Amino acid sequence: MSTNFGKITVVAKDGMTNLIRSIAAEKHEAGQPFYVLDLATIERLMDKWNHSFPNVKPFYAVKCNTEAALVTKLANLGANFDCASIHEIDTVLSLGISPNQIIFANPCKSISHIKHAAAVGVNLTTFDSKLEVDKIKKWHPKCHLLLRIKAPSASGSLRPMGKKFGVLPEEIEPLLHYACNVAGLKVVGVSFHVGSIAQDPTIYRQAIANARAVFDIAHYLGIPKMQILDIGGGFRSTPLFEEIASVVNEAVQDFFPDPNLKIIAEPGRFFPETAFTLVTHVIGKRVRGEKIEYWIDEGVYGSFRPTLYNSCFVGIKPISMKESCEIRESTIYGPSCDCLDKVAEDIKLPELQLDDLIVFYNMGAYSKCVGTKFNGFDMLSTPTYLVTTNST
Ligand code: PLP
Repeated sequence: MSTNFGKITVVAKDGMTNLIRSIAAEKHEAGQPFYVLDLATIERLMDKWNHSFPNVKPFYAVKCNTEAALVTKLANLGANFDCASIHEIDTVLSLGISPNQIIFANPCKSISHIKHAAAVGVNLTTFDSKLEVDKIKKWHPKCHLLLRIKAPSASGSLRPMGKKFGVLPEEIEPLLHYACNVAGLKVVGVSFHVGSIAQDPTIYRQAIANARAVFDIAHYLGIPKMQILDIGGGFRSTPLFEEIASVVNEAVQDFFPDPNLKIIAEPGRFFPETAFTLVTHVIGKRVRGEKIEYWIDEGVYGSFRPTLYNSCFVGIKPISMKESCEIRESTIYGPSCDCLDKVAEDIKLPELQLDDLIVFYNMGAYSKCVGTKFNGFDMLSTPTYLVTTNST
């Protein structure tokens, strides 16, 4: 099967290792890592989303992984998109997706980015300051706005956003008044983001209650009825997801009984995280007593960005050309000359040789997109091969 993005190979789920071996053998020598994207996983996740959130339209947060085949697949499955910059907007538009399917969900935008949104017809954005209102009034006055409110708790997620983003409770009334009654802009709803990798479902309930309060303040200020509640991101495809969905659905029923309310979300990690597998090569090795150190062709200046909390979810599988039963304590370094470029430490691996593969699962979220060209290693253009796994 072939698409604009290349060939899609269909493999049985347990045929993935053989597929990886053959891609590595035919197309990639050491020094050239690659990704495999399983499109069937994206389909399964969209089914899961629709089942748990039948009334919540996902706007996939493109920042998490901008792979064109992923974005197109999600569009075909009915997703809309959250973009944060000109480049993300243009990436999505270049794939034939309508500007009406985009929310410019960055509360603080450069003027050039606002002008670009106006020029291409992206007409929904978020804001959380008076200056942002002034910029939008001047450069994109037809844009509809969502007021971004501060998420309730700093401890409910691994990467809270509340310090940087969102209005404080006491700022809500004056800012809404300024945006609607002074600047004459259309505020059509409220957005929040509880933080990436949510740990505590109840913070969504608290955030939805806070959003309700904003709708009530808007009503009191005589602002025409707001219609959109944006519940942000923070989701992973783990059992906690169903728990969060049930808390959200119940809170929406409790606080927003209006059936005309449009509920949207901005899931990032949820879709790509488990669908991407990264394949690396062993490019160097040193034996020190009982321990072995390896160098591979991807590192922290590429897909292994330590600040993005990916390391706790990644699965590692070595694929050796030689049978080895000896399990050794191992450290894995990335290819750059920086001593901080360490991918894993003191993990148990069977002894590997030069050119063997080390495969990393669950590598789709905030990985390649945060890569760099540090030390001349281009970690931004690692290629992706498409596969559809089936269970037979
Ligand atoms: N929406 C906004 C405004 C964000 O800043 C982010 C992540 O930084 C997301 C959505 C996606 O978040 P997540 O990957 O946690 O779902």
